[in-house]
Amino acid sequence: MSTHFDLIAIGAGSGGLSAAERAAEYGKKTAVIENNRLGGTCVNIGCVPKKIMWFASGIAETLHNASGYGFDVDLRSFSWEKLIEAREGYIKGILDWYGNYLADSNIAHIQGTGRFVDSHTVEVDGKQYTADHIVIAPGGKPVIPDIPGAEHMLTSDGFFALSEQPKRVAVIGAGYIAVELAGLLNGLGSEVSLLLRKDQFLSSFDAMLRETLMEEMINAGVNIMPRTSIERVEKREDGCLDIYCVGGIRLEGIDALICAIGREPNIKPLNLDAAGVNYTERGYIPTDEFQQTNVDGVYAVGDVTGRAQLTPVAIAAARRLSDRLFNNMPDRKLDYSNIPTVMFSHPPIGTIGLTEGEAREKHGDAVKVYQTRFTAMYHALSPHPQQTAMKLVCVGAEEKVVGCHIIGMGADEMLQGFGVAIRMGATKKDFDNCVAIHPTSAEELVTMR
Ligand code: NDP
Repeated sequence: MSTHFDLIAIGAGSGGLSAAERAAEYGKKTAVIENNRLGGTCVNIGCVPKKIMWFASGIAETLHNASGYGFDVDLRSFSWEKLIEAREGYIKGILDWYGNYLADSNIAHIQGTGRFVDSHTVEVDGKQYTADHIVIAPGGKPVIPDIPGAEHMLTSDGFFALSEQPKRVAVIGAGYIAVELAGLLNGLGSEVSLLLRKDQFLSSFDAMLRETLMEEMINAGVNIMPRTSIERVEKREDGCLDIYCVGGIRLEGIDALICAIGREPNIKPLNLDAAGVNYTERGYIPTDEFQQTNVDGVYAVGDVTGRAQLTPVAIAAARRLSDRLFNNMPDRKLDYSNIPTVMFSHPPIGTIGLTEGEAREKHGDAVKVYQTRFTAMYHALSPHPQQTAMKLVCVGAEEKVVGCHIIGMGADEMLQGFGVAIRMGATKKDFDNCVAIHPTSAEELVTMR
């Protein structure tokens, strides 16, 4: 194998693979360097396995609701082991596909840890590779607090490695991961406590979303413990954990303590100083709007940039970067505004644009809010009904929709199309001019008054 490439991506997760794939489509000679499995966090220990667990938890929810529709269902057992085996089989299929795809696309797969020698040279296991363009896409890893007994905590990585279902679980954190894992474990029958250091979770979300989700999670049986900060963890002889919190609160006999308090970029092994690439104190690599770092020919995409840490964002930024570099599209770049995102909670959340609070701060009295809250038709017959709530945040005389926030069954699949409309600058009138699809929950978004 020749060791000079048009483009090398360090990290074969969503961002790195996408940059290399797109460059290869343009006939460029490319390589990905990866020290773990292809696909990165999303495929192996993130979005994909999480979604499978969320589906499983949703099936449990459906079974619990079935009696309302006349079914006399006797749920005899649930096999965590079978679910995990099926999940890992599915992931293996994706990984096999990736392996074949790289080979078919002539993308070199270099297994090992990449380390900069200079701005155009990366070393892996003593061998040097050079490239005209190097894309840094190493992703991130979970943060673990510095407290006594922290070694007994699991992170999301450890959660996905669990071969047995933990019966009693404590989750620490207030973001996507903590809320999603607490919800799906509760749905699958674990006894879950969610420890928040403040009063609320999802601080960057619209208040309506977080308040509704908190109510629903409490109704579903999650023990939400606001203002509870963990001090230390002790492992007992029986293998269970005792968790000691500030103020004398104690949780005893916990099978799994999952810490989800954020992630940090994976830059340590990269030797960025050798390439002269700048990074912040927290390890994020600043880039301009074209993903360009401070060094010519060196770019960064994905979580390592610290911006909108979402798989599709990494993919979109990386593809546009290769379009720009290799397909004569000098202005091609990702617009980071109005990125739709979904929280796979129970019920799910779909959200895009400004929260009501952000809009009022930015546009003052020019903001008009439309909102609704109802029991979706499905839940009219279910013994465990959930609420659906929606909010449109509009601005100015023409009522341009600058925020759309949905929580409830189907919100996850509802948002994508509304995202397109909002990115196109839709107004409330445009929403209203679209004839409702009946009977759905989504129709409320075009009929709100
Ligand atoms: P987040 O950064 O989203 O949230 C972590 C939160 O935990 C903080 O915001 C903070 O909230 C709280 N926290 C921080 N430190 C502590 C502490 N010492 N003790 C208790 N709580 C603390 O991190 P996640 O790990 O949840 O997710 C990482 C990234 O992964 C996110 O950026 C997200 O974009 C992505 N992701 C996306 C998903 C999706 O799209 N569905 C799913 C999963 C992950 P506060 O200050 O309010 O206490």
